[in-house]
Amino acid sequence: MSETNKRILLSSPHMSGNEQKYIKEAFDTNWIAPLGPNVDQFEKDIANYAGTKGASVTSSGTAAIHLALDILDVRRGDTVFCSSFTFIASANPALYLGAQLTFIDSEPETWNMSPQALERALYVANKENKLPKAIVVVNLYGQPSKMDELLDIANVYGVPIVEDAAESLGAEYKNKKSGSFGKIGIYSFNGNKIITTSGGGALVSNDEEILYKSRFLATQARDQAPHYQHSVVGYNYRMSNIVAGIGRAQLEVLEDRVNSRRVVFDTYKKELSNIPGINFMPELEGTKSNRWLTTLTINPDIIKLTPYEIMDKMNEVNIETRALWKPLHAQPLFKEATFYKHNESKEAISDSLFAKGLCLPSGSNLKESEVEHVIEAFKKIVG
Ligand SMILES: *Cc1c(COP(=O)(O)O)cnc(C)c1O
Repeated sequence: MSETNKRILLSSPHMSGNEQKYIKEAFDTNWIAPLGPNVDQFEKDIANYAGTKGASVTSSGTAAIHLALDILDVRRGDTVFCSSFTFIASANPALYLGAQLTFIDSEPETWNMSPQALERALYVANKENKLPKAIVVVNLYGQPSKMDELLDIANVYGVPIVEDAAESLGAEYKNKKSGSFGKIGIYSFNGNKIITTSGGGALVSNDEEILYKSRFLATQARDQAPHYQHSVVGYNYRMSNIVAGIGRAQLEVLEDRVNSRRVVFDTYKKELSNIPGINFMPELEGTKSNRWLTTLTINPDIIKLTPYEIMDKMNEVNIETRALWKPLHAQPLFKEATFYKHNESKEAISDSLFAKGLCLPSGSNLKESEVEHVIEAFKKIVG
C-alpha cells in the first residue's frame, strides 16, 4: 500500500516506548492489581504536573466525573449545570445519580461555557430556590474556558465547579494548568486523548478530604472495620497498576505531545486560513490550548458545502474528519432539559458551531507528509 493510501486518522494513540518499562516492573514485582507502586507514583506525577495537592486515578474520565458529583453530594432530584457544547460523558454521571441537567451555551471566544448565560441561569435558579449542586465546565478541544469569569459568578452563589479537563490536559490558563481551577478537576486517558493509558482518568483537587473520599468511593466505600462493612454506596473505579505504568511513561512526554499538536494546528492554519469562509478555533489571550483537535468552521454563505459533504469527500481519499460535538441540549436524551443561550434573542452559539464545524486529523504522531496530504485534499475539495 502506498503512503497516500494509508488511512489518516483523527487522533490515534502515540506511545513513547517507555511504557513497557513500567509495565515490566509491575509484572516483575507481581503488582497485577488495582493499587500498587505505579498507581501511587502516577498520582504524584499528575498532581505535580497539575499543581494540585493530589490526584486520584480512576478507570475512566467518566468515572472521575461520577465520583466528583457524588462527593459534591449530588442526589436524586438535584440539579447540575453543564456546558451544552460537549461530549455526552460530561453529563451522563449526573443522570447516574438521579439529578436533572440544565445546559449552558458557549460564548464565541473560547467556544466554552458562556459566563453571561451562566449568570442568567444561576439568577433564575436562585430565585426559584433551586441552585445546582455543581457546575460542570468543559474545556473543549483543549481550549481553557473563561475560568476567572465563571468562578466569580459561581462563587457569588456558592456553587462548586467541576472542571472537565478531559480534552485539555497540558493546556494553560494564565500560566496555570488547565484542570486545576475547579473545586475538582478531571482528566481522561482514553485512547484518543492527548496522552492515553488505553483507558483511564484522574480526579485532581486541592482539598484533602475530596481526594480521600475519591479513593474511598472508588474502592467500594469500605468502612474501617475488621470485617467488610459498608455505610454508603461505593464503586469499583480505581485504575490498575498496569494501566498506571502506561500513564507514567505517557505523562513524561506530555509537553512533546502538546508541542506537536500545536505545530499541526499552526500548519493547517497557515495553509488554509486564506481560503475565504474558513475560520479556525480561536485561542483566548492569556491561555494556551493544547490543540487536542484542530477545529474550524465553514461559513455556509461563502462555501457551498456542508461539513458532512466535506467529511464524505475527505473519507473518499482515506482521511478521517469529524463533525463538532452535537450540543447536549439538542440530544433526544435531554429533550426536557432547560437550556440558557449566550444571547437570548439570537441563535445559540453551540448550535451554530455544530452546524458549521469540522475537526481535522490532529494526532501528535502525524507525519509532515500526512499533514500536507490533508491540506492538499482539503484545498481541492473546499478551495
Ligand atoms: C473523553 C471525554 C470524557 C470522558 O472520558 P473517558 O475517559 O472516555 O470516560 C469526558 N468529557 C469530555 C469532554 C471528553 O472528551
